[in-house]
Amino acid sequence: MKRIYRTYADTEVYKLAVNVECPHCGNEQQEIDTDECGKTYVIECGDCGEQYEMYFDAS
Ligand SMILES: [Zn+2]
Repeated sequence: MKRIYRTYADTEVYKLAVNVECPHCGNEQQEIDTDECGKTYVIECGDCGEQYEMYFDAS
């Protein structure tokens, strides 16, 4: 069987994690694929279970 070799030099980030903080309890967590500019995402806190909105923009 043929074999190919790759190193870390061949890797790239294909998903971006956004650090968020729950406005209810302050719990910090990471959300994946929530980085589209001008979009609002509904996030559920992994700690207190409350939902909140996160608006993402370029700056
Ligand atoms: Zn919370």
